[in-house]
Amino acid sequence: MADFVIRVGCRSAQGMRANNEDRFVVDPERHLFLVADGMGGQDRGEQASGLAAEIIPKVLQDRLAAHDPADQAMQRALAEANHAIIAAGQSQPLGRRMGTTAVLAVEQGGQIFVTGLGDSRAYLIRGNRVEQLTVDHSVAQALVSSGALTMEEARSSPWQHVLHKFLGCAEMADGADVRPFTPQAGDRLLLASDGLTNHVSEDDLRSTAEQLAAPQALVDQLVNLALERGSRDNVTCVVVAFEQE
Ligand code: CA
Repeated sequence: MADFVIRVGCRSAQGMRANNEDRFVVDPERHLFLVADGMGGQDRGEQASGLAAEIIPKVLQDRLAAHDPADQAMQRALAEANHAIIAAGQSQPLGRRMGTTAVLAVEQGGQIFVTGLGDSRAYLIRGNRVEQLTVDHSVAQALVSSGALTMEEARSSPWQHVLHKFLGCAEMADGADVRPFTPQAGDRLLLASDGLTNHVSEDDLRSTAEQLAAPQALVDQLVNLALERGSRDNVTCVVVAFEQE
């Protein structure tokens, strides 16, 4: 990664919500980036995404320092955050559950490794191509994959926001898929919560990224677009730009 200058833009907007349950981590020095979107009543969503934002970077850093392969380090970090969030939920009165999504990226050996649980997304913007690097762990997306629903039907499905994999989920046998890519000069990696992606399409990402090179300008424009289009949710976006030294 010595060949690149990393520039980062980031913003989390509370929007119409009474609180902001999204959290993000931006650590350009360690090449570690994360967005988490908490779920649960009162302050439980914030607590869950806060635990993810605290535990995942710490475990990842330790495991990478111990020379674990990045994919194993990521699985370990997600598993430890999962356990902590389940434990925190069990200490709540009435056993009320809490959970959070997490999408994260970390560098090892010149590659960027991306993974996620839940429906926060990672996109790679390369030239005029936009590629979603993560799969939504929503029931609607699972029904699309099995051929039961079309993409169009999934968008209006009541299952669109019901997650079957997230942090705080007791049954998570097969973990998360880890997707590596080798960055090229000009690449932009985008991490976002569903408050953004429910209102901003891949076409919007492509056209906005074409107009705005600076990562913070791109983030601000995309977050504003989601808010203007009536996102009632918290809206969080991180853009990591890989630029020639
Ligand atoms: Ca959300």
